[in-house]
Amino acid sequence: MAYSQYGSIEVVCGPMFSGKTEELIRRVKRAQIAKLRVQIFKPKIDDRYDANDVVSHSSQVVKAIPVQDSDELLGKVHDLTRVVGIDEVQFFDNKIVDIVNKLANRGFRVICAGLDLDFKGVPFGPMPELLAIADEVQKISAICTICGNAASRSHRLIQKEDADQVMVGELETYEARCRQHWFVEEIESKHFHRSGASFFN
Ligand code: ADP
Ligand code: MG
Repeated sequence: MAYSQYGSIEVVCGPMFSGKTEELIRRVKRAQIAKLRVQIFKPKIDDRYDANDVVSHSSQVVKAIPVQDSDELLGKVHDLTRVVGIDEVQFFDNKIVDIVNKLANRGFRVICAGLDLDFKGVPFGPMPELLAIADEVQKISAICTICGNAASRSHRLIQKEDADQVMVGELETYEARCRQHWFVEEIESKHFHRSGASFFN
């Protein structure tokens, strides 16, 4: 997408391992080839890899600026920047929605990559609103580790009674699953947690 004086919001979403970070890196690299100044941000919570890089599961890397919250992100956007990339955008507070909108209205091309759903299948943080205000949305799938079909969900391998939404992890913690194989495990874990109560109650 060529640079225009009007900004835009692009959202790339999907489950873990779907290639959101790869797609963000691909778009950012094309912008750099077009000699546009790019800044990439990521929330400080995502410490899986190098603190100052965005790294995909396939080991592609771009430099990133870690920020504590959306206010810090806004403060660090340089006037000369044309493209603002944000990885793991689901971890930001809801203020990110206004900030992304403001940046796009001021002429920045904003590319957000994030999980649409948490491991419980619930829309993640600011994602529903970001998807609604976006000019362009790409929802991508991973490969289900059980059957090889397209995976739209992330399954957490470690089951805990008081499960938090945020548990930053890697291959050993999460797996990509299709709806069917995600749902089967969901029923089993509900049975387990409710000690035998029917899931359909
Ligand atoms: P995301 O940011 O969506 O978590 P990444 O861009 O970091 O995804 O990684 C995508 C890469 O992960 C794929 O190109 C592939 O090499 C690898 N990968 C590992 N497991 C899977 C899976 N189950 N489905 C698809 N890709 C996978
Ligand atoms: Mg990613």
